[in-house]
Amino acid sequence: MKKNTSFSLLNSGVSKQKIFYEETNISPLKENKPAFFANDGLEKNVLSKSPLKTKASERPSFPVVGNETEEETKLFGLYCHWPFCLSKCPYCDFASGPMPCNSFDQNIFLNAYIRDLEDCLLLENEQRNDKNTKNTLSEENLFKNKQPFQKKRVLTSIFFGGGTPSLMPLPLLEKILNEVEKRFSFAPDIEISMEANPETIDLEKMRSLKNMGVNRLSLGVQALNDNDLKIFKRPHTLRTALTRIEEARAVFDNFSIDLIYARPHQTFTQWEKEMEEAIKLQLPHLSCYQLTLEEGTPFYKDKNLRLPDDETQAQMLTYTWHRMKEAGTPPYEISNFAKPGFECRHNKSYWLGADYLGIGPAAHGRIGNTATEQERFFQNWLKTPMKKIPLTEKEKTEEKVLMGLRLFEGIPLPSGINKKNIRKAAEKGWLELNALKHGRLRAKKNGRLFLNRLIEELLKD
Ligand code: SF4
Repeated sequence: MKKNTSFSLLNSGVSKQKIFYEETNISPLKENKPAFFANDGLEKNVLSKSPLKTKASERPSFPVVGNETEEETKLFGLYCHWPFCLSKCPYCDFASGPMPCNSFDQNIFLNAYIRDLEDCLLLENEQRNDKNTKNTLSEENLFKNKQPFQKKRVLTSIFFGGGTPSLMPLPLLEKILNEVEKRFSFAPDIEISMEANPETIDLEKMRSLKNMGVNRLSLGVQALNDNDLKIFKRPHTLRTALTRIEEARAVFDNFSIDLIYARPHQTFTQWEKEMEEAIKLQLPHLSCYQLTLEEGTPFYKDKNLRLPDDETQAQMLTYTWHRMKEAGTPPYEISNFAKPGFECRHNKSYWLGADYLGIGPAAHGRIGNTATEQERFFQNWLKTPMKKIPLTEKEKTEEKVLMGLRLFEGIPLPSGINKKNIRKAAEKGWLELNALKHGRLRAKKNGRLFLNRLIEELLKD
């Protein structure tokens, strides 16, 4: 089936960094659970208290860096990618796949994560030195500012994504958090999110994660009916998902579930009903991602698979915006809905163009004027340091627009966009008319629905 392009951008949730796992030669684990899963005793011992050295009240407050816009200054995230899942879902082209058969050495992984952290720290220091050097005129300051920064930069969020990071052995998670904390400070209200699938977590594990500092759980529920869960080949049932949601509610103030819409053969009425089920759950946060057929996946190759047409997809999305707003969980981004105060801070650092670090296979980062990229396949990542790619001002502007227009609140008007293009997009009804007057770029409903076209229009030379 032809790839759906008209809405494909809507699905670019950035905490899912992609890889075509099936191109690797690793044979999947025969049994469902990786061997290290059995090590319950060790996990419990380690988790009796928080591994973080500083209590929330002792952590420094931000901001610590000057010169950026207020939003950019405040937010500074770290994404950590865990590449393994119990099995591979037929629609997924993320950097994920089943655990390899060969025995798993946590230390090998830990060392590679530490290497990434060191590289990030070095780059972050270089960028801050450069920025400071540019902003100071006196020779004395020039010399002073070439010394490495002593003050640790303050992280406002950490996101463990994947893959299924709830499969990460807890002792490894503990060590990673410790290594992060050696190099960066934690904001007093740091958001530490972890993605989890219903079949890979239970109440006890949730409590352990919370003791370790994780304060936001994102559950990959994907569908609120067993039939679609089977089509997605998810190992969990609706019943398990509902149990996990209640457990998450008991442990975490802040949690979210992911749902996928525009499923094979799904009608608008079916989605409408499912929205009502989702609303009844009284979730603090919900992510709804549109299914797209990604090249190379089994869904893409299945000629009998029919997705709802473009019009129905648009109807589903606009209805979700409208209904969730009515229910008190309004959209704050194209695919994300939150009760006030429960917006995902980590993802906002991407959408607002703030700096973020990326460690682990396939992770991306942005530090000042440099993008970082990790190897996509974990075997290559284990032995290869991250790539650093300098970004031009034009590329930075393009990225800001691409990400920022996903937000319902929009972004401060980035410099470097042709005013004629802004006026044209506003005339077409895609942008708020007052973009230029108020210095803020904000898409209107039609602009959000056809974001690819709006962005193309704005970025024309
Ligand atoms: S669990 Fe998530 S990351 Fe893993 S294969 Fe399925 S969709 Fe992809």
